[in-house]
Amino acid sequence: MATVTLEQMAKTYPNGFKAIHGVDLSVKDGEMIVLVGPSGCGKSTLLRMIAGLEAISSGQLVIDDKKVNDLEPGERDIAMVFQNYALYPHMSVFDNMAYGLKNRGTPKATIQQLVTEVATMLELEHLLDRRPNQLSGGQRQRVAMGRAIVRRPKVFLFDEPLSNLDAKLRVQMRLEIKSLQRKLNTTAVYVTHDQVEAMTLADRLVVLNGGNVEQIGTPLDVYDAP
Ligand code: ADP
Ligand code: ADP
Repeated sequence: MATVTLEQMAKTYPNGFKAIHGVDLSVKDGEMIVLVGPSGCGKSTLLRMIAGLEAISSGQLVIDDKKVNDLEPGERDIAMVFQNYALYPHMSVFDNMAYGLKNRGTPKATIQQLVTEVATMLELEHLLDRRPNQLSGGQRQRVAMGRAIVRRPKVFLFDEPLSNLDAKLRVQMRLEIKSLQRKLNTTAVYVTHDQVEAMTLADRLVVLNGGNVEQIGTPLDVYDAP
């Protein structure tokens, strides 16, 4: 668990385009924030800035009490789940899930234990020797989740993780993500353009428009507003 605080965070791309204008946001311990808004409003840019995949042009990003603007992605104690899953195609499911732990020098026996535990939680234990191309879309999505979970990060980031799945699977995985996030009680920021997904998952919604926060509130506040 962690708090994530954005103070006047802004992004100007090298071509001079101002994609994010001074965003203030405070994500509470164990809270799930969903970023919504029209295509091009800056959702992905903002998420990638939190992840450390995109430089912050001005303002501050604070996780717990630590300013993390200049930390590398691997040093932020954050895990991100991508739309295209970003699995390593040449590695088995086990190795994909173990990757982040190996990089940190986690002992082999601990890796074995953590990966097995998370694989069981996600019903992947019988697939650990497979390669990503031998899995269904839903299974790949679970592996991407598993890879994030095994590291026990303070913060989860999700970039439209369900948009490549068919409608039925999307509903199922949406519920799984919600129940996992509750169970692990991890602070999360989730980007989607699907309104139902946003309403189901969000403790609070943040509506972006043209790189500005237009509205922040519970799903009822935002969608039932007169
Ligand atoms: P969203 O995720 O809400 O669709 P993005 O964060 O991807 O929006 O993009 C926000 C805006 O920034 C868009 O207008 C997009 O064209 C622009 N943008 C994204 N990446 C770059 C880049 N590398 N250079 C310049 N402009 C960019
Ligand atoms: P980390 O080990 O902290 O996750 P990396 O910098 O190794 O970070 O990679 C960032 C993300 O990019 C990873 O989550 C991974 O999914 C993806 N990625 C990196 N290299 C590859 C690759 N060769 N094939 C597929 N995905 C990759």
